[in-house]
Amino acid sequence: MATTTEKTTTDYADLIATLSLPEKVTLLTGASVFTMAGHAGVGLTPINLSDGPTGVRGLKFSGGRAVTLFPNATLLSASWSTDTAREVGRLLAEEAQIQDIHVVLGPTINLHRSVLGGRLFEAYSEDPLLTGVLAAAYVDGLQGAGIGACLKHLIANESETDRNSMNSVVDEATLRELYLLPFEIAIEESNPWSLMAAYNDVNGQAATEQQHVNLEVVKGEWGYDGLLMSDWFATKTTVASANGGLDLVMPGPDGPWGEALVAAVEAGEVAESVVDEHLVRILRLAERVGALGTPRTLPADLPAPDSAIRREQLTRLAASGMTVLANDGVLPLTSDQTVALVGRHAVETTTMGGGSAQVNPPYQVSVAEGLGALLGDRLTVTDGVEVRTRPVPASGKTLTNPNTGEPGVAIDLYAADGTLLESRFGGLAQTMVGFDDELPQPASRVVFRGHTNLRGAVEVGGIGVGRWTVTAGGQSSSFELASSGGIGAEMLSPPAQVNELTVTDGSDLVEAVVELGAKTDDNPLGGVGLFSIAVRPVERPVEAVLKAAQVAAAAADVAVVVVGLSEEQETEAVDKSTIALPGKQDALVRAIAGAARRTVVVVNAATPVLMPWADEVDAILVAGLPGQEGGHAVAAALLGLIEPAGRLVTTFPAADGAAPAWEVVPTDGDLRYDEGTFIGYRGHYAQQAPAPAFWLGEGLGYSTWDYTDAVILPGAASPTVRVRLTNTGERDSREVVQVYYDPQTEGQPVRLVGWATAQVANGASTTVDVTTDARLWHRWDTDAASWGEPLTGGRLLVARGLGDIRADLPL
Ligand code: BGC
Repeated sequence: MATTTEKTTTDYADLIATLSLPEKVTLLTGASVFTMAGHAGVGLTPINLSDGPTGVRGLKFSGGRAVTLFPNATLLSASWSTDTAREVGRLLAEEAQIQDIHVVLGPTINLHRSVLGGRLFEAYSEDPLLTGVLAAAYVDGLQGAGIGACLKHLIANESETDRNSMNSVVDEATLRELYLLPFEIAIEESNPWSLMAAYNDVNGQAATEQQHVNLEVVKGEWGYDGLLMSDWFATKTTVASANGGLDLVMPGPDGPWGEALVAAVEAGEVAESVVDEHLVRILRLAERVGALGTPRTLPADLPAPDSAIRREQLTRLAASGMTVLANDGVLPLTSDQTVALVGRHAVETTTMGGGSAQVNPPYQVSVAEGLGALLGDRLTVTDGVEVRTRPVPASGKTLTNPNTGEPGVAIDLYAADGTLLESRFGGLAQTMVGFDDELPQPASRVVFRGHTNLRGAVEVGGIGVGRWTVTAGGQSSSFELASSGGIGAEMLSPPAQVNELTVTDGSDLVEAVVELGAKTDDNPLGGVGLFSIAVRPVERPVEAVLKAAQVAAAAADVAVVVVGLSEEQETEAVDKSTIALPGKQDALVRAIAGAARRTVVVVNAATPVLMPWADEVDAILVAGLPGQEGGHAVAAALLGLIEPAGRLVTTFPAADGAAPAWEVVPTDGDLRYDEGTFIGYRGHYAQQAPAPAFWLGEGLGYSTWDYTDAVILPGAASPTVRVRLTNTGERDSREVVQVYYDPQTEGQPVRLVGWATAQVANGASTTVDVTTDARLWHRWDTDAASWGEPLTGGRLLVARGLGDIRADLPL
């Protein structure tokens, strides 16, 4: 557990006694989008919060300073390593310190209930033990360096559809045994200094007002002494939320507390002692992060996001979590082979998911760049089929700022009276307006300008709410774009339109003007939003793309096809409707498998996708969303410079719908978690869904293993499994020994109860002990409203994912 200076409630009471009621209440709502209010009188410095979870974005939602972009959460968790999670926490603390951030809004520890969930890329796994244990280590890494963590989102927030209004219907046993368990583990092991209450309702009560979860369970039974903040704009009420365990409303300075809460206290609807209790928790957080009393001192000389040390860390962290799902011996590639690299994801690698987890990285290495750096002229690169249905912001690869000649665009913001308010410069042609900026008057018009290096038919358009006029090659198009509704849609999923215009040598300036709506009572987000211009070549016919790819593939020793998902699927605020690869990517893989001598598929996605061609290819490597060093990491993994020793953290269904929990669209506002605790591998194993394509825990690495002499060693709280492990392959390798408990009690699913990792030289053996976790032997007794006797009987399974069981040990 991280060390902290603990004060008692009575110490804080002296400070609180100096404040008037309005002063107290002011401190209970954020001062701005990402800051908490300070108070000189009590020595409280404003606390700076930043998303999270895999990269510290800073105080600006978009367009802030360049910061390190880490591999996404599922790629990190695929290492099944507390050392990795702790290291990431420690590095994120450095990223926070360099920006004077006090609290990082992460980790995200909601579970992968349905693989359609848009935000799964931010969370660790479908398994509660893996999630909780890794979260505890991450929190430890962060808080050990004095930076607060924030577990999110409490609770039952596993999908995005109607997330601000939907009601998750979850029985108590399922809440306790499954969804609350990662929170319980992380709180017990690492005492995170803050938590975030989710947008949704749970069993008919908003998460921000949950008497049961927030007060009875978390602050009551678990004795949690940290702070509970709301998700952004999630608080719907004054009295119910203040009395429901919520300590802090975010963002601010406006919101449902403020004067309304003062009035509610004066009317006796909220006791002043409740306000004081929230304040104690705010002051305790401040004390812990060095924002109360003497200001903290921050280390100097922290690594820059593009420093050599960060490059090494990021490449290693990403490559070692990549997961080999099939390999007939083609991997690792050898240094004398020629390689044909194909695919849109090869040239435009998805390095991160969309939404609040996005950061502004200093650079992003594509697979083409990473493999090119190692293979030189032994590599050919061929673009693949289109993978997106929506326009994306243009990048410095196609645009040059007319004012500076640098890659990117010039962005000017004007007031209604024509005053130039601010000039911005973006490497990505995207800017956030009216949300986290400090403009002297509201912006009413934004102008983007850039020279494009594209010629001929070009798709040019605008992204964002407003009236657009886009000009290129002397032609213009005008259109109006409206918000799709929903809190934050202007920022998280802005509307877009593109038109085809012709660009020639003499007229390559692209200009886009967007007139913004005004802020009114009916339209409080008027003039607020994320705005971008889109500029990209018009797509070639699919047949031509497939033909070119086949020609390239046939000419090389090995074809490497990179397919995957983009921020259209892996994003906050939107769920998927299928796990099929978008566009004609399956056709591309099949075309290449038919033309190439050997075919390796790299899957650039954080979450399961369908692989109908799996039997037609020689190897499959799941590369996640690998962060700014992604291309270097994929190259290192393919060539075996770093072993891709990952194991899946989510079970891959074999078809759409073929999973124990699938639906993410609420019915009449309710999303029923009727599968109970049988999500993912647990439900597949119980045959509540067809056999999956790949199980949680699956992953081949670059070696083979023998398991012998498995025995159960009884323990006081829970047994340990001992097994002899021999590396029978030709390379040194890392194994993840997994132990599952298959109880004989009806209604109780198989579950992961422990794992251990071992690095073993080729030909060598080692003995591995896996201590099973007593918290997984518990069963919630709904009638008694308490934990019942631990489960007994059944068997322990030692497995490399439940599709490859190596020992079956009756209890
Ligand atoms: C997300 C949170 C995030 C917050 C602040 C919300 O939309 O759900 O996870 O921390 O925004 O950006």
